[in-house]
Amino acid sequence: MRTLATMNVTVLEHPLAKHYLSVLRDKATEPEEFRNAARRLTYALVMEATRDLPLDTMTIATPLEKTEGFHTSPVVAIAVLRAGLGLLEAVVDLIPSVKVGFAGVQRNEETAEPIEYYFKPPDLADSTVLILEPMLATGGSLSWAVSKAKGSGARSVTCLCVVAAPQGVSRMEREHPDVRIVTAALDRGLNDHFYIQPGLGDMGDRLFGTT
Ligand code: URA
Repeated sequence: MRTLATMNVTVLEHPLAKHYLSVLRDKATEPEEFRNAARRLTYALVMEATRDLPLDTMTIATPLEKTEGFHTSPVVAIAVLRAGLGLLEAVVDLIPSVKVGFAGVQRNEETAEPIEYYFKPPDLADSTVLILEPMLATGGSLSWAVSKAKGSGARSVTCLCVVAAPQGVSRMEREHPDVRIVTAALDRGLNDHFYIQPGLGDMGDRLFGTT
């Protein structure tokens, strides 16, 4: 794990994360294997993103004696459509009590700025909010989703990304310096169409077999 000194960004360095990221990057990976790799990588992202999740304590009885037990505080996940759906199954599996919201945003292909079409969060009060946005490219969609979550009451926000570009990280740092980003890779940059390089292509298309 690498935490960049000047930014609120954690890059996973775990060998399994690197393995599954490579499966995702490989253009020969078909949608079924792609979805499996995305789910498996997300387990590592969630473990890191929830490292500081507050815990309630309680007393539990083992078969031998009473001891201290712990219970996680409420978590909300907001999946940015479509690609964020690829991370959702692992989040729900690891945190079964999670409440889930959806943020629908399309990007203007010329400017890469977000065009909102849907936002439906659950109650965010007193929850840790995880925003699932696998591809942090220009940062337009993620910044928009974080603003919407904050506008709905989110106080503690962490973003789960598969790949982040420096441009997106800088924008998040400017617009949401309080928000933490956990990613499996910090890539080189963006091409003329705002795709991350080397990246993994269009995450939504690769998850769902569209082109
Ligand atoms: N969205 C994607 O799916 N891929 C990119 O490279 C950038 C944005």
